[in-house]
Amino acid sequence: MLFVFSAPSGSGKTSVVKEILKAYPEFMFSVSATTRKKREIETDGKDYFFITKEDFENRIKNDAFVEYELIYDNNYYGTLKSEVDKCLAAGKCMVFDMDVKGALSIKRIYKEKAVLIFVNPPSKNAIIQRLKLRATETQADLEKRIARIDFEMTLKDKFDYVVNNDELSVAVEESKNIINKHIKD
Ligand code: 5GP
Repeated sequence: MLFVFSAPSGSGKTSVVKEILKAYPEFMFSVSATTRKKREIETDGKDYFFITKEDFENRIKNDAFVEYELIYDNNYYGTLKSEVDKCLAAGKCMVFDMDVKGALSIKRIYKEKAVLIFVNPPSKNAIIQRLKLRATETQADLEKRIARIDFEMTLKDKFDYVVNNDELSVAVEESKNIINKHIKD
């Protein structure tokens, strides 16, 4: 099974994903490639493969991606075929952290093998506050992230599940219930 977590930037989705990976150590995480700059707390090869735009575009030409998106107008993010193949070869479940459009692409490709979970933020304002507190973006990048929130929220109904993230521990428990249901079937 492929468990895909999506939400607007700042919804706390990455925190949910991290807790899920702790709870299911046998699951694999799909490490995406991106052209965005690495944040201080991130590790190359663990959080993302941080690559140049040129490298990314070469990989597009070489058909290395299952899906990719140009997000916030300026940065590429993509799921590598090599990551998904590793998981399929090992017969393991895989967890994805991606934007809403990427999630819908995964559903189109893997159909019922893919379970899409939307991490629903308490409010738009809560996202904006979280993004400002995190302070990992420049003002211009922050504005691009805020500008995309409404669009991402409109795709929520296309997801298999919506998990409210008013409180992290509750969102994690709900996500675990969803996962348990699917790995039992
Ligand atoms: P961030 O820059 O905050 O790490 O990520 C920005 C957005 O890109 C987030 O919504 C994140 O989930 C998404 N993202 C990360 N990896 C991928 C990927 O491989 N494909 C797609 N479509 N989106 C991704």
